[in-house]
Amino acid sequence: MSSIVCSIVIPMYNEEEVIEETYHRLKKVMDQTGESYELLFVNDGSRDRSASIIAELAKHDDNIRLIDFSRNFGHQIAVTAGLDYAQGQAIVIIDADLQDPPEVIPQMLAKWREGYEVVYGKRLKRQGETAFKKLTAYLFYRILNILTNENIPKDTGDFRLIDRKVCDAMKHLHEKNRFLRGMISWVGFNQTAVEYVRDERWAGETKYPLKKMLKFAADGIFSFTYKPLKLATYIGFLLSTTGFLYLLYVLYQRLFTTNTQSGWASIIAVNLVFNGITLIILGIIGEYVGRIYEEVKGRPLYIVKEVVGFKKNEEKN
Ligand code: UDP
Ligand code: MG
Repeated sequence: MSSIVCSIVIPMYNEEEVIEETYHRLKKVMDQTGESYELLFVNDGSRDRSASIIAELAKHDDNIRLIDFSRNFGHQIAVTAGLDYAQGQAIVIIDADLQDPPEVIPQMLAKWREGYEVVYGKRLKRQGETAFKKLTAYLFYRILNILTNENIPKDTGDFRLIDRKVCDAMKHLHEKNRFLRGMISWVGFNQTAVEYVRDERWAGETKYPLKKMLKFAADGIFSFTYKPLKLATYIGFLLSTTGFLYLLYVLYQRLFTTNTQSGWASIIAVNLVFNGITLIILGIIGEYVGRIYEEVKGRPLYIVKEVVGFKKNEEKN
């Protein structure tokens, strides 16, 4: 068993403006706890100096480890690699941009000592984020909760502490499209929250543009529920019932009245609506089929180019 008490996993993608400050803030907090710890930076294919800054710092600090990806694999995969390499008895996942204040970590450790196996950070407030981001995040967590049976805590991010047992359990979840906060709920264990105010990004800009956010939201929904597939059945029933009733009405008009319906426009309108619905549902099926395909290919989740700061036979336990 390793002697490290706490591993901190920090995924980073083009964070050269902030990463050194992040290191100093984390070091200060962790030194104060008096526990043995490691700072595990996962460089997710940054095209800037993020990795070399950490490699340089690692020369003077034994607590630093660096896992350098061969390219950008995405935030959730970077965190997964961190969990694979972490050696601590408790593992904290934290963003590199200082939006999650490192000063909350001692509170998480205290809860962990009380016996909780997952301590997630609950955002009381989000500072300096756009109204659009706040609204979409608010709606997303509510919709996710309605759609899934998993009790995924609302308004939490990936900033959390997990026990070694949870980390080991996570290693059995091999899915390619990863929604970690959902997966951590899924594995269970004793969970609790500490509340915090989410700060503004310390420097640089978000590495989650709308496109990545949509993909992330889709992973959250499609990996945890197949309810969207049932939509086809529900809408199908509704439409065929309506269609049948309308057919009876048309027949009645034809047989018992002198009105005959003329209407090219109405037919086109109905056609467009129904074809649209069919395509949407095909798209939903496509989302699932694509995900099945990804799984079947069985490729590794990530490729590591280089690791720094690990002692011999310490890598990847
Ligand atoms: N990140 C990453 N790979 C990516 C995108 C982001 O490792 O492809 C990291 C990023 O460096 C940061 C964390 O994930 O540490 C959260 O990203 P960001 O702060 O840009 O997201 P936001 O807080 O704006 O949602
Ligand atoms: Mg951020």
